Amino acid sequence: MHLKLFNILAILALSVVPASAEISLENQKLIATGIPTYENRQFIARIKKDLRLNVPVIVLLGPYDKKMGSARLVDGFPRNYYILVDKDFYRGLSDLEKRSLIGHELGHVVFAVKPKAGDSEFVSLQIGADLFAARYVGFDAMIALLNKLYPTDTSKEIPEYVLRIGILKKLQAQ
Ligand SMILES: [Zn+2]
Repeated sequence: MHLKLFNILAILALSVVPASAEISLENQKLIATGIPTYENRQFIARIKKDLRLNVPVIVLLGPYDKKMGSARLVDGFPRNYYILVDKDFYRGLSDLEKRSLIGHELGHVVFAVKPKAGDSEFVSLQIGADLFAARYVGFDAMIALLNKLYPTDTSKEIPEYVLRIGILKKLQAQ
């Protein structure tokens, strides 16, 4: 387990890439169907300042297939950073879990997922975003969000969940 953790952290350190993924047509459609929420504006402003992110961050609630995600409009103007959340999933979150979600998605400004990221790279970028969020909300809140993202016993067997929760719990225990 220790070696595994070391490998993940090594991958993590190498995969810090600038957010430059172009927004897909599919994402444009998703953005068009979302309704903005202005909850947690101050929290977003604080993180934006830390990231020196000078674009509007817009949280959109919609009926989405995925529970949460983020996308950056690079060709359009203004160059908004969108956080997309399924409204039913959002409704089931506590205030702290909502902030965990926002923190995680803003973490992808640093730990940006490239369109053709392999599985291990994808998971390491998720872990990077989780740890970024935990700096603002704490490990307990990030763990609580993950348990809602992966709600069933079967989903908790998915390697992505096992690795993400394992690292958060290890750091929480320190
Ligand atoms: Zn993510």
